[in-house]
Amino acid sequence: MTTPHPNKAAIVHDYKASFVFCRQGQHRWPPPSTWHWRVTLGLRRKPVEYRLDLVCETCGTVAKDVIDAHTGEKRRSYSWPEGYRIPSEADVSRTDLRLEMLHRIEGAAEVVEKKKAAGQ
Ligand SMILES: [Zn+2]
Repeated sequence: MTTPHPNKAAIVHDYKASFVFCRQGQHRWPPPSTWHWRVTLGLRRKPVEYRLDLVCETCGTVAKDVIDAHTGEKRRSYSWPEGYRIPSEADVSRTDLRLEMLHRIEGAAEVVEKKKAAGQ
């Protein structure tokens, strides 16, 4: 068992809600009908690559896709909003953030009693 990073609990506790939500699950990208493609043309004005920047509607992370027009291969890089990145030495996992999300919604969650099979 490893010793927890001294700042781990504080980092998770103070982490912005939208960041907690995305990192415990996934980003929410805008629908394809809103995508704005940019095409780079080469010789004889033939497309070389297509570029697309997607901004997460929840947290503001930007995914930058570059698709090779010939091979279809995609490269993706990200740019994160201020405060999104967590130092790797803090060792904060998706599970840690999922538990933090549950902790934050505790008061707002609807209570549904689980019925025992025998009592139904
Ligand atoms: Zn996001």
